[in-house]
Amino acid sequence: MEHHTLKSKELPLDSSYDVIVVGGGPAGCTAAAAAAREGARTLLIEATGSLGGMGTSGLVPAWCPFSDKQKMIYRGLAAKVFDTLKAQMPHVKEDAMDWVPIDPEKLKRVYDDLVSEAGAHILFLSVLADVERDAEGNITTLIILNKGGLQAFRAAVYVDCTGDGDVAAWAGADYRKGDEDTGELQPATHCFILGNVDDYAYLNGPNLHADNPQSPIHEVVRSGDYPGIPDTHLCNNMVAPRAVGFNAGHLWGIDNTNSFSVSEALIQGRKMAADYRDMLAAVQPAAFGNAFVMSTGTLIGTRESRRIIGDYVLTAEDYISRRSFSDEICRNSYFIDVHGTQTEQQRGEGSGLSITLYGPGESHGIPYRCLTPRGLRNVLVAGRSISCDRRVLGSVRVMPVCLAMGEAAGLAAALAVRHTDGDVHAVNIELLRGRLREEGAYLPEIQAKSMGSEHNE
Ligand SMILES: Cc1cc2nc3c(=O)[nH]c(=O)nc-3n(C[C@H](O)[C@H](O)[C@H](O)COP(=O)(O)OP(=O)(O)OC[C@H]3O[C@@H](n4cnc5c(N)ncnc54)[C@H](O)[C@@H]3O)c2cc1C
Repeated sequence: MEHHTLKSKELPLDSSYDVIVVGGGPAGCTAAAAAAREGARTLLIEATGSLGGMGTSGLVPAWCPFSDKQKMIYRGLAAKVFDTLKAQMPHVKEDAMDWVPIDPEKLKRVYDDLVSEAGAHILFLSVLADVERDAEGNITTLIILNKGGLQAFRAAVYVDCTGDGDVAAWAGADYRKGDEDTGELQPATHCFILGNVDDYAYLNGPNLHADNPQSPIHEVVRSGDYPGIPDTHLCNNMVAPRAVGFNAGHLWGIDNTNSFSVSEALIQGRKMAADYRDMLAAVQPAAFGNAFVMSTGTLIGTRESRRIIGDYVLTAEDYISRRSFSDEICRNSYFIDVHGTQTEQQRGEGSGLSITLYGPGESHGIPYRCLTPRGLRNVLVAGRSISCDRRVLGSVRVMPVCLAMGEAAGLAAALAVRHTDGDVHAVNIELLRGRLREEGAYLPEIQAKSMGSEHNE
């Protein structure tokens, strides 16, 4: 590839913030709200025109379980987001905790309010363009691109909630991405909503999910009559009256850090949404005969991207042993849900990495050190790109735990501003955990027998 050297250029500089969060998905929203609530002057920078990431712009139609099958374990700001949205969805039972559907337009406003009411500023339609750092591992400046051109921002602490680890990776953090041998990533899915669905026929018709052996999707794929339908993956939820959200089918070989790859996926995904509509209208005419594609995601549904290497790398072994950590900032109980790569799919293997294991009441801890990138001093990472192995990413990538991690990261960022001159590795863990508890986080007393080694490579 040819190269071009940028001409040096003077940019407007804004140094008025203590904490800057990049990426306004679930993790970024709670990070910004928590930092601002803690007194830090906070800016949240988001590439799209709305908050919520995959849950809004990506049209993911449901929350993964908020419970450990006994009680709610993602609390604090996570519970606030969840309960506020639920209260606005009359068809959702008040005590529902698991696989609760999402009305994406309502959720956008829940996040707008959460972040604004906490006192953080939001900068939409602004994308990270560059990161500058010093020799001590401090990010010194973020360069942002928006309709105003390029603009520089400086803060004491930065929180990377881009889902791809853009901030940390561009600042030089070590990371892993995809399968260690082949580099392949979990497939993407382009989620969509069908409107004008017959509610009664949908709710009383067969469960379409592939878990149901009677779902028509099995015959659809077996018959080969619908070449646009790649496989049996067909999650669906009623997200609003006469509107059903779908997380259906897979797109392989998509890399969210490569815009050409994402562009191709968006085009293919929109075509697939139309193919799903036609297929459903044919096999379930009572429910979908008059349905239309109401909306497709403005973001491609990305399950796997960069995993930033932090002071600790959470592993599947930690998950399997239900490990607790003295610096844990939340608990997690979602199963290890890894969608197979194209190679695995072609071999008919599934992913071979998924694990459904936990009984009622079981969970594991996520250490604060998974949020602190090695070699960077004033940067935290929260959400899908935390420090973990590929298998356990299949669990910690989902929204309830991203909300909980985000709150911890935002609070830690504010504490680093106040007490450690921006050094996120030096944050007092007992203070952080104590403040999280005061804000309602679920951090049970740690049983000595569930503690593993506190260190890994
Ligand atoms: C197809 C699919 C189905 C899923 N199903 C479920 C489910 O049923 N339930 C569930 O709970 N979870 C589900 N998940 C997981 C979950 O939605 C995501 O993993 C989760 O939203 C990750 O949260 P996040 O905050 O880390 O990142 P994201 O939600 O990806 O948000 C990142 C935000 O950062 C912004 N951003 C990125 N880069 C930049 C940049 N350089 N500059 C500025 N802004 C930037 C993006 O625009 C986006 O708004 C699913 C995921 C996928 C892909």
